Amino acid sequence: MTTSPLFYQAGPAMPEVSHGQGVFLWDTRGKEYLDGCSGAISCNLGHGRQDIRDAMTAQLDRVAFTYRTQFENAPAMALGNALVEMTEGALKKVFFVSSGSEAVESALKLARQYFTTRGEPQRRHFVSLRPSYHGSTLGALGVTGYQPLEAPFADITSGSLKVPGPDFYRRPEADRETHVRRVLDETRERIETAGGDTVIAIVVEPVGGASTGARLVDRAYLKGLRALCDEFGCLLIFDEVLCGVGRTGRWFAYQHWGVVPDLLTTAKGLGAGYYPVGALLCREDIVETVMAGGGFQHGHTYAGNPLACATGLAAVEAIRREGLLDNVNARGRQLQRGLEALKARHDWIGDVRGLGLLWGMELVMDPVGKTPFPADANLFARVTALAKEEGLLIYPRRTLDGRAGDHFLVSPPFTIDEDETVLLLERLGRALDRLDREVASLRDA
Ligand code: PMP
Repeated sequence: MTTSPLFYQAGPAMPEVSHGQGVFLWDTRGKEYLDGCSGAISCNLGHGRQDIRDAMTAQLDRVAFTYRTQFENAPAMALGNALVEMTEGALKKVFFVSSGSEAVESALKLARQYFTTRGEPQRRHFVSLRPSYHGSTLGALGVTGYQPLEAPFADITSGSLKVPGPDFYRRPEADRETHVRRVLDETRERIETAGGDTVIAIVVEPVGGASTGARLVDRAYLKGLRALCDEFGCLLIFDEVLCGVGRTGRWFAYQHWGVVPDLLTTAKGLGAGYYPVGALLCREDIVETVMAGGGFQHGHTYAGNPLACATGLAAVEAIRREGLLDNVNARGRQLQRGLEALKARHDWIGDVRGLGLLWGMELVMDPVGKTPFPADANLFARVTALAKEEGLLIYPRRTLDGRAGDHFLVSPPFTIDEDETVLLLERLGRALDRLDREVASLRDA
């Protein structure tokens, strides 16, 4: 037996990948998997695309790497302009990075530098949600509200003021409006207690990802956050690392609700899994202030390199050329209907929620009380393993924050067709039927 030099996570041995095409992957033993979560919600256009390969090799033939302070490069300029257009000009400045965590770090630091430049150095707090996920580097982890990841590092990250976000599945209030108002009131209280003029920004995922199983916000909530930021003079940062670049059926998720942030982070799907590229999009005057104060004291070596940007540009152009946002919406509706039918089959599926091709399913021991399964049952891992045996990849998590429990994401590539969506649902259905037997014995125990 060969031992692997690599270490990522404790868990069962993994198959070795052989190749991929479209929404499918094959391992070296010939087993086929439908990629029902686009890798880590990143391989948004499927595998083996000739157009992206061609754009990458054409760029490699010219030049792979140049440093951002030595040369402008055409793909970076073009991708920057495309991103600005995707915000309909609301955010006019772009700072490239290579990952979601880097995008979030950049947002936090730019926001802080904006205020120090303006003579407001007392602003040192970020406000973020529990649960939430904003990345694994220390700054991004500080604003993350996800207990298992935070715990080992809590006393060496700068942290943030953690507030609850809306939870329309478990809300104790009778109606959504009262729920949103209460959540916003709690947020206001936390800000006032800390001192309104000490807050740099509120950071929020418009559609939750890994930490919440696609939990949604609504227009009233985002409008409320916008109003709080305007009142206290702090910035609003939307983390669209996972839900941006078309995943929810619009270029950016915030466009569903029409509330515009001051800064926006995106990554994952921007390079469509072919090369790492992420971006921080910014309100122009924020950048102008920081630049007038001597420039942004921040940067990463690979930021905005030509190969990364040529890849991102090819991905964005493919989404445009092939009208893939329409497919995200059409297949999203089909997926929603199918997931809801599966929910009707099993009372331990508590909630189905999402937008576009970003769907979460939450599993509950008791559908009335919405109590989670015992943590040691590891249902999130079980459902993922069973799906994999059935030839379907899904993205699992267990949230220990708040009362939520096991959930998983279904988020196939934007290119999935109608028959492939049927196949995805069949394979998921078989995995859930098998899980049903395990759930029955858990409930009997
Ligand atoms: N923010 C959000 C909302 C994310 O979903 C992720 C990744 N899951 C990150 C930040 C961090 O991105 P990365 O893993 O590329 O560093």
